[in-house]
Amino acid sequence: MSISHPHTQVLGTAADAIERSIQLLREEWRDGFEGRKIARVRMLLHQAQNLTGDESVAMALARIDLRLGEYAALDIEGRRSELADIGKALTSIGARLPDEVRSDSKPAAPARRAPAPKPAKVAVVRQVALASPVTMLPRVGDQIARKLAKLGLETVGDVVRFLPRRHIDYSKTMTIREAVGFDTTGEVTVKGIVEDETVFDGPPARYTIRLQDATGSIKVTWFNKYLAHQIRQGDELTISGKLEHGYGMPTTTNPEWEKTSGPNLSTGRLTPVYNLTQGVSQKQLRILTKAALDMTESSVVDYLPEPMRRRLDLMPLGQAYRESHYPSDYRLLTRAHQRLSFDELLLLQLGLVKQRENRRRGRANVFDLERAQLDDFYGQLPFQLTRSQRRALDEVLVDLEQPKPMTRLLQGDVGSGKTVVAAAAAQVAIRNGYQVAVAAPTEILAEQHLQNFQKLFSGLSEPEQPVVRLLTGTTKKKERARLVEELSTGTIDILVGTHALFEDWVTFASLGLVVIDEQHRFGVRQRSVLPARAGEIQPHVLSMTATPIPRTLNMVLNGDLDVSIIDELPPGRIPIVTRRFSEMDRQKSWELVRAEVNDGRQAFVICPLVEESEALDAKAAVTEAEFLQREVFPEFTVQVLHGRMSGKEKDRIMEAFRAKESDILVSTSVIEVGIDIPNASIMLIEGANRFGLAQLHQFRGRIGRGPYQSYCLLLADDATPEAEQRLQIMVDSNDGFVLAQKDLELRGPGDFLGTRQSGLPEMASTIRWFDTRTLDIARREAEQILSEDPTMSSDTWRPLRDHAANFWRELAPDLMLS
Ligand code: ADP
Ligand code: MG
Repeated sequence: MSISHPHTQVLGTAADAIERSIQLLREEWRDGFEGRKIARVRMLLHQAQNLTGDESVAMALARIDLRLGEYAALDIEGRRSELADIGKALTSIGARLPDEVRSDSKPAAPARRAPAPKPAKVAVVRQVALASPVTMLPRVGDQIARKLAKLGLETVGDVVRFLPRRHIDYSKTMTIREAVGFDTTGEVTVKGIVEDETVFDGPPARYTIRLQDATGSIKVTWFNKYLAHQIRQGDELTISGKLEHGYGMPTTTNPEWEKTSGPNLSTGRLTPVYNLTQGVSQKQLRILTKAALDMTESSVVDYLPEPMRRRLDLMPLGQAYRESHYPSDYRLLTRAHQRLSFDELLLLQLGLVKQRENRRRGRANVFDLERAQLDDFYGQLPFQLTRSQRRALDEVLVDLEQPKPMTRLLQGDVGSGKTVVAAAAAQVAIRNGYQVAVAAPTEILAEQHLQNFQKLFSGLSEPEQPVVRLLTGTTKKKERARLVEELSTGTIDILVGTHALFEDWVTFASLGLVVIDEQHRFGVRQRSVLPARAGEIQPHVLSMTATPIPRTLNMVLNGDLDVSIIDELPPGRIPIVTRRFSEMDRQKSWELVRAEVNDGRQAFVICPLVEESEALDAKAAVTEAEFLQREVFPEFTVQVLHGRMSGKEKDRIMEAFRAKESDILVSTSVIEVGIDIPNASIMLIEGANRFGLAQLHQFRGRIGRGPYQSYCLLLADDATPEAEQRLQIMVDSNDGFVLAQKDLELRGPGDFLGTRQSGLPEMASTIRWFDTRTLDIARREAEQILSEDPTMSSDTWRPLRDHAANFWRELAPDLMLS
């Protein structure tokens, strides 16, 4: 699956874990006893201890673990003989493990075997480890296993932890007449027969039916016309949702639904509704989750110590799993979510606090602000810093005077002027004799930073101006060689670049400051890559992001950083006017574009997301650009920009646009971040309903950067009510923090916590249940645990640590082990 799941990496059995450790020890031998694999091996051995049911094996593993703890203190000879010894010991332990445990991870039995004798019926359900493959579940063969894998379900544990999207409350089932008379804003569940189905192609596209029982009927609408393929006239359907009592027939919109066939549904309780994939039905999944819960009843080990669980009034883990699928009532469902969400937040905070502590242990160069002569720098700027910029810069400057590396995140809306704050910090570093690295997520942005940084210092006298250079993935070999030279001699003051900056060959003579723009695009791992490389003394790190994050979520997403916020725009900006247009207004929107371009301005046209496919997006953009050039704006120059172009091509197009060689730039969502073209005053966003609020806001940030009134036109048909709400919020507000808060309220924390955006592990439970109090407690507990036992190697905390290591494994493999 595409997003990391905290648990999929758990090794299947104790035997697997031991085998893998032996492998790693061989690598350690091969690498010349450098000790780099040992932490990994120890973690695997802890896992093996947890997985094996054999007390004596666990003891033997614990003894080996102790010996490995001393490994670092040995000289090479000592390490060699210790390694040989431990290797032998592990091999013999591995051989002692019982066979049926080992077969857990082996593929299914060969075909055409004589039918096995029926096992005698036993009252107790056979127990398996959470890490066993799904094929251990009844009636799951390779074929179903492949389908389940699409849902991210590879082990029995994955199934146990596969939270339902929601529940249908069958205990609230009533007749339609009762439901209509039911005076509440809550949900009702009714059962009836499907009549009068209609598909509307839109806008907005929708599918409606009349649901009828003996007492009356309800009109049901889904904003998903494809449901017509699944629901048929005459079907018996149970739906669950809120009723609206308007004029005429009572209606409900987008209710949960389920085909009710026969009496076998568990009535009178909360029934889980899962996200599905082709070929796996709701019913099948229910059978599987039920079986998985039953079969792991005794193998679920609670990694939170009992006293802590009591103190925080948390449900035991096994019970939380069960209640999250088959809750006894809503209260217990909430308690289950609370427990699971707490766990995720705790694991997250353990990692973030750990990361912060690791950094704090590092030393950094103390910068002398006197010597930096910042007044020279301020004096040559074409503007004065805003109050917000000054405050943020002050916070940065305080950090730079400390002997500890700065780890500050600068948050500010698009156009709020973060770059100049970074430039001022760079000036301090350079004047103190250090070099600066500036990382941007794309080539276009890197190039723009190159120019911006040059420009921001251009008022200084020639010899005072820093030497700024560019390094990207497309930088030629020869130029690279020159950069290596200039970096090592200290000629380069500022090196601006993309991910290429993080490559091994890039070594600075004296790196003092790292600036990371659009930090969320680099992910947590990269956040710490550069600092580690500088050896003992670490550079100060200033990260920047234009993605405003609601205050409540800052601790979740950025708990390892100090945060500064720029919450005002530079003066003189004219607020962008945003309008919601539909298909009927298309001609009007083009005329607005024409008027602006005739006035000497330029325009962006953003094409809708076609699918999760860059190729199709690109094609659509090219077609749109051709159409606009030929049919609508023959008198202007229209160009196109998309993700399928090489960095060079993109640069060429952007440069042409910047130089006003083109008037209208048609683009896919690649335009999203950071591009600064002050002359662009109008943006037309096609299919605006398909984009999330954060992304729309990013797009809009491309205009309104000059002294002109700017316009953002949101074109959308076919919008669902939720999309309509998003568009309205865009029309109502220009403030990124307001939008972010609204987004959080509207859609929950899912968008912010989604792995790809946040660079954090997946947090399925937190997305379902989140409150700041739980977050605060998780933070406090994490701080407490790590101050009490920094390596979490005591018996109390080791299980939790191993769990946290798994949680962080993909993003920061060694985080919990240092
Ligand atoms: P962002 O925060 O999106 O990175 P930039 O740093 O690119 O914003 O700044 C946007 C524009 O605002 C730039 O053209 C910059 O020169 C200008 N700018 C920054 N600070 C000020 C200020 N205090 N007064 C006027 N213009 C400013
Ligand atoms: Mg910027």
